[in-house]
Amino acid sequence: SAKVIDGKLVSKQVKDEVAEEIATMKAATGHVPGLAVILVGSRKDSQTYVRNKKKACEAVGIKSFEVNLPEDATEEEVIEHISEFNNDSSVHGILVQLPLPRHMNEETILGAVNIEKDVDGFHPLNIGRLAMQRRYPLFVPCTPKGCMELLHRYGVEIKGKRAVVIGRSNIVGMPAALLLQSYFSNRQKANATVSIVHSNTKNPEEITRQADIVISAVGVANLVRGSWIKPGATVIDVGINPVDDAESPRGYRLVGDVCYEEVSKIASAITPVPGGVGPMTIAMLLSNTLESAKRAYNFK
Ligand code: NAD
Repeated sequence: SAKVIDGKLVSKQVKDEVAEEIATMKAATGHVPGLAVILVGSRKDSQTYVRNKKKACEAVGIKSFEVNLPEDATEEEVIEHISEFNNDSSVHGILVQLPLPRHMNEETILGAVNIEKDVDGFHPLNIGRLAMQRRYPLFVPCTPKGCMELLHRYGVEIKGKRAVVIGRSNIVGMPAALLLQSYFSNRQKANATVSIVHSNTKNPEEITRQADIVISAVGVANLVRGSWIKPGATVIDVGINPVDDAESPRGYRLVGDVCYEEVSKIASAITPVPGGVGPMTIAMLLSNTLESAKRAYNFK
């Protein structure tokens, strides 16, 4: 049965490393990193994410700033707050919690964030750099970066391997595929041969079965069955899907895209849900914010 890739454990290691570096930076420069979060509207799930990010910041010594705007706020108001944070030298990361209300243009708003503070890595210029493979982006999106960190820390060989990414969203699937095939000269290279499976792919099962490494980011419970997996493959499950569960006090529990019971018998390594990629996302956000502050204070 597959080795469990423990995202909770690795995220704790990353957070400890970040906290230690922040303490050193504070001693040397007198400054700590700052992260600003802008939340528009009152979605319960977004509020939870923002609260968790704030708590995680406090735990490692990052100063957090928060702005809450009503659902009917205007695009201009959001951009005004972004500009304030762009100009605030104690803020090194700016994050606009997604999804935004429907009347707002996501690209306009994300594009207003100074790319040097774009710790989510969603600014078109940072994504563009990721695609162009010349200059490493200032920031790489946190969830796919967390997937790569798990592969690296568990010593999974990527170079020359076949990888399949299921899902092609801007925030997970697409950047994950770009990272898996990346060959930046000044960074950890990946150099896999990558296929992307999406909602219009014919025979996704057959294509996925060729992969040594599978990253799934779809949002459909139990989509990836045992028969989709090559024996010995490494499987990273990004999906977070609620399924009814009468025995849970909440009436539901969270599962990934991957049918864990079947796949864990065939893969050589697999991330659980919860406790896999989830905790890595916040850890990467903290690490991106620290990186940004180090750049701002020229602290090596
Ligand atoms: P999304 O809805 O933006 O994208 C889903 C992608 O899946 C699309 O590109 C679509 O083409 C593809 N798809 C849909 N049906 C498919 C099918 N039957 N077969 C193959 N591909 C199909 O979702 P997202 O934002 O990328 O999130 C995906 C999942 O990951 C969700 O469950 C989300 O909750 C989870 N997620 C987890 C984290 C984390 O921190 N662990 C972060 C972001 C998202």
